[in-house]
Amino acid sequence: MGRIVCLDSNTVNKIAAGEVVERPASVAKELLDNALDARATRITITLEQGGRGLVQVSDDGTGMPPEDLPLAVQRHATSKLQVIEDLLRVDTLGFRGEALAAIAAVSRLSITSRETSSDVGHRLEIVDGKCGPVRPVAAPVGTSVAAAALFHNTPARREFLRSPQVERRAILDVVTTYALAHPQLRLLLRDDGRDLLDLRPAATLRERAAALLGRPVVTHLADFGAERDAVRVEGLAGKPPFGHRNRSQQFVFVNGRPVRDRTISFAIAHAYRHALDHERYPVVVLFLSLPPDHVDVNVHPTKREVRFRDERLLHSVVVRALRDAIGPLQTTDLETLPRPERTASILKPWSEAGPSETYPAPPAPCAHADGVRLAEALLGTTAPPSLEAATAGRAGGRATEEAVVPAGGDTSGAATGATLLFESPARRPELAGDETLYWQMHNAYVLIQIKNGIVVVDQHAAHERILYDRAVAALEGRRPSLQRLLFPIPLELSVGQYAAYEESRELFERLGFQVRPFGGRSVLVEEIPGEMARWDEGAVLLGILDDLAENRERERLPLRDQVLASYSCRAAIMQGKRLTVVEMRALMDQLFATARPYTCPHGRPTLLRIGLDDLDRRFGRT
Ligand code: ADP
Ligand code: MG
Repeated sequence: MGRIVCLDSNTVNKIAAGEVVERPASVAKELLDNALDARATRITITLEQGGRGLVQVSDDGTGMPPEDLPLAVQRHATSKLQVIEDLLRVDTLGFRGEALAAIAAVSRLSITSRETSSDVGHRLEIVDGKCGPVRPVAAPVGTSVAAAALFHNTPARREFLRSPQVERRAILDVVTTYALAHPQLRLLLRDDGRDLLDLRPAATLRERAAALLGRPVVTHLADFGAERDAVRVEGLAGKPPFGHRNRSQQFVFVNGRPVRDRTISFAIAHAYRHALDHERYPVVVLFLSLPPDHVDVNVHPTKREVRFRDERLLHSVVVRALRDAIGPLQTTDLETLPRPERTASILKPWSEAGPSETYPAPPAPCAHADGVRLAEALLGTTAPPSLEAATAGRAGGRATEEAVVPAGGDTSGAATGATLLFESPARRPELAGDETLYWQMHNAYVLIQIKNGIVVVDQHAAHERILYDRAVAALEGRRPSLQRLLFPIPLELSVGQYAAYEESRELFERLGFQVRPFGGRSVLVEEIPGEMARWDEGAVLLGILDDLAENRERERLPLRDQVLASYSCRAAIMQGKRLTVVEMRALMDQLFATARPYTCPHGRPTLLRIGLDDLDRRFGRT
């Protein structure tokens, strides 16, 4: 007997839905597309439990006649094209006629719609793929589509949903993107009765960007625009050295459609090459308009990707427009700086520096790499094997709480590290009494002479460990030390930052931040933890909030661990900061007061030891 069967349409639809509907944010995206295609000027998005319970999008667009309602939820039913040639002319966001069918297959869907010409609305409900009757109801002009209990009938998919906060933030990203594309649109986003976004029509893109990304960000953005061969590009672009930590603040639209496109990302990166520091990405809102037949929008089920007919032309138009806007380079082109001569600049001060407090750092643009090379040159390896043994078990470098916080003050791990690193059983390197000398190299590493060798400390990693341990203690109930700011600082947060702040407010308080709401999306900072080495007028706090807002996709760490990791990294002394001998000594004292002085919270080493015997051997003395 044959084994192949034709699937029933209900099953087919559920499978097909997987391509279009991945999570509540995809529902929000498709419903927003439809509302915009219906020429809405006002859209309200209502969520329950971050969209897991409900995603409802109500618009004031053209509406649908009652006879269209059952068709709207059928697969491949659309009012937006009729023959395949129409694809070359589509100016609507939708055209595949799949979205409502897909959403109906995996949720409890209800569509209410009223045309402008009609004085009554109609409603259709679909439960588990089955259409109910179309009933007349009182309704405002426009359409309201409500998708409840997403994936209630596909439990396997439901498992993949993330927490309401995470799903809500994904929706917030989608809505932010659409809000940038349509500054004149009135937009309201609500979750469980709470307003997340309330955007009034804005006259300009700049005004809308200020409402979404924060006013301070917008002051760093320049307008740009260029046109060539029927291709037009325009928008806002960050002026170097202002940049963001990742590409999450790059918004690209092709004929009004938000896309992720490699050609354009590459052109953006190219335009900013040498203009931004390593690991900084420009903030860009970029609109590309080109004739519909120059771009294939039908290459991806959710239309997130497109294909261009002439990528070279696009590349050059985008690069030119951005270069013109950001002006001449403002940061130093690192590649043209003279490289320090290694033997001269690294080894010489070592023998000659004597007991001076610090020696001037040579003009090394990348102190870190050179520091590592020193160890490499001396030890023939980047990290001595003993150190790897000491940090074994924390492989992967992931900052999980279990991995780095000893339970109940158990310091056995550290003790093992100590014996491995310093042959004496003492936990702390035996300092060389009066002869203990401290130097700082490249404003990045602290070099300490110990009894039978030297120790090289990564100042950032060491301080990170100190802050991390204190933050853990503070979260566990110990009173944090506080610094009251002389003048409380108001900070205006972006949508993402504010959402992150609201979620982690209590954790921040326990760490020692006194931050209170200050109207709209502003907060007032009155106190900060006493041990913060950096504050930068609040930029550090904004950075932590950015991390929290952005880490969510990559890291599945609990919020608490994300706060700990980001706080200890951002508040710590950076590479590049000059330290006095007193500060270096304090750093070492505090480091060895922690439970795990040999590794930073990410599991990387905080210090390396180079023994005199090592040196003797390498110089052929033994
Ligand atoms: P597509 O958008 O690709 O056409 P959809 O499944 O998203 O497919 O929608 C099917 C049809 O339902 C649309 O072509 C449109 O005619 C109608 N429709 C859906 N949402 C709305 C809305 N908010 N306002 C007016 N018409 C709508
Ligand atoms: Mg659609």
